[in-house]
Amino acid sequence: MRVLPNILLALLACLLSPPAFAVTLTLQGEAVQGGLMFGKADPGATVQLDGKALRTSAEGDFAIGFSRDGTGPHELTVTGRDGTREARTIAVTTRSFDIQRIDGLPQRQVTPNAEDLARIRAEAAEMTAARGTVGTQALFRSGFDWPAEGPISGVYGSQRILNGEARAPHYGLDIAGAAGTPVRAAAAGTVLFAHPGMYFNGRTLVIDHGLGVQSIYLHLSEISVQPGTRVEKGQLVGKIGATGRVTGAHLHWGLQWNDVYVDPLLILPPRSNP
Ligand SMILES: [Zn+2]
Repeated sequence: MRVLPNILLALLACLLSPPAFAVTLTLQGEAVQGGLMFGKADPGATVQLDGKALRTSAEGDFAIGFSRDGTGPHELTVTGRDGTREARTIAVTTRSFDIQRIDGLPQRQVTPNAEDLARIRAEAAEMTAARGTVGTQALFRSGFDWPAEGPISGVYGSQRILNGEARAPHYGLDIAGAAGTPVRAAAAGTVLFAHPGMYFNGRTLVIDHGLGVQSIYLHLSEISVQPGTRVEKGQLVGKIGATGRVTGAHLHWGLQWNDVYVDPLLILPPRSNP
């Protein structure tokens, strides 16, 4: 009979403890290298990843991207307006990436000279400045769709060997459509940046999908939208071309979460006609 008072005490403690408000937290997507997750917390909640506040929409949306080489784990903390907290540990699944060799590039494009380097740096600074304007709405909630038709000719993460020299990994998805093939906004967003001809990227477009999620469209032959324009998923924004450092016409489509390049293929629906 000695256990009974303990049970009663426990029951009493339960009844007397303050009412617990649950924190709403939903996460979708894969916690994998190169992955992008979309989350939702209560409106007004504070969301932190590894102690750093994440941008959230008024409705409580947020995004988390995982880099190619990051191993985690990450600590996600959501604090509701009433002070209730929920912490979740996110383990990151590791991947292995291919090696991609590309030969026959003009040597100056593999090892740019001092004048080219100055131009490359100036263009990069211009693009980084434009990309600093981050939308506060979760426009990525429109979902993502293929920005162009054509076979895949390059994937995210592959280690690049250009003319026999090791270079940075490839941080996008290459779609080898013919020059002139329509390029469409992969998701709803706002056009942030349009450049007529960058050294490596060629004719370049950046679309902001909100809360740090942005997509880039490179090597275009034509751009049909202006910076500041709101675009819908599937809207025509330009045409495939062969501008910048390329060996043939294709669209390089890249996806970023803040400064982290993520894998576009992980966010796209399967194609019926790849
Ligand atoms: Zn590419």
